[in-house]
Amino acid sequence: MPLECPKRMVYGPCGGVRPRGICEVDSRRCSFVGADAPVWPAPIPSLGASSAVLHRMSSRPVVLTDLTLDPFDLPGLRRAVRIAASSADALLVGDHQNRPDFPPTLLAQEILAAGGRPWITLTCRDRNRVVLEEEIAGLSALAVDAVLCVTGDARTASVRRGVTQVFDLDGTRLTALAAAAGLTVAVPESPHAPPTDRRAARIANKERAGAAVCVLNHVADVGTVARFLTQARAAGTSVPIIAGVAVFTDARSAAVLDGFPGLGLNPASITAVLTDADPVAAGIRAAVAEARALLALPDVAGVNLSGRACAGGGELAAEIKAEVGRQLLAG
Ligand code: SF4
Repeated sequence: MPLECPKRMVYGPCGGVRPRGICEVDSRRCSFVGADAPVWPAPIPSLGASSAVLHRMSSRPVVLTDLTLDPFDLPGLRRAVRIAASSADALLVGDHQNRPDFPPTLLAQEILAAGGRPWITLTCRDRNRVVLEEEIAGLSALAVDAVLCVTGDARTASVRRGVTQVFDLDGTRLTALAAAAGLTVAVPESPHAPPTDRRAARIANKERAGAAVCVLNHVADVGTVARFLTQARAAGTSVPIIAGVAVFTDARSAAVLDGFPGLGLNPASITAVLTDADPVAAGIRAAVAEARALLALPDVAGVNLSGRACAGGGELAAEIKAEVGRQLLAG
């Protein structure tokens, strides 16, 4: 294991590597840049058969909606689910370093009760291996459609000073744990993040660890996704790949997406949305257009409507993404 990695990753690098190979956490050089990452030793079968969303992918592209949630607000969660559920095949729940929330299993239970199909993110930042095993057991008992297994971005120094960050596991080892427990596992990848020439092989490695589907972080242009898909198949990846679509309608929601390591937004698209007389309508148009361009690629299995969508809170964000999803599902 490269001891210099502050997230103690074995199967790195993470998706947060900055330009010129600088670490996401501080100014050191990422210890995985220029080094061969280990190959997952003993393949674990990926379990996609139990996922209704993966089943749908065989007949049409799917739409995931990444829910924007106000933390510790169950009534707000239920309202957002009721708004977004019918215009998405599944509702993705994130795990943010600066916005802790209820335990993943509780969120999944609430989404199911409100009529949604949850895809739940598990990260290794704030939960040790035992707690992750507990969440995996809970999510298995609920028969959730899928879990997104992520190493997780590190907490920035100004947030919750003195609180430890765990990283007992990384995303690949968490994938193996969840797949061995019988869950359908989705994994992320960042085509934009250095070292870009190794990102495709990382999906193949996560597939060996049990991943059944990959969800890409959004990038600035469709051509990058097309090239990445070609690289992923050349690297031996066979899992379906879902492309990321950036949803933003104001300066704040654009800034969140544009300033995050490993993500990319098209500058022309930002200008077009933010200078429009109706930026909400323009943001929806831009997201639908980006999604349709991605879905026109022959090897894209679906899209994930990601980002905060707006600064106006979870319900308004759900309305915006629901409109994008409705237009996409209508064809
Ligand atoms: S960029 Fe990520 S993988 Fe690389 S050393 Fe930093 S935390 Fe570790």
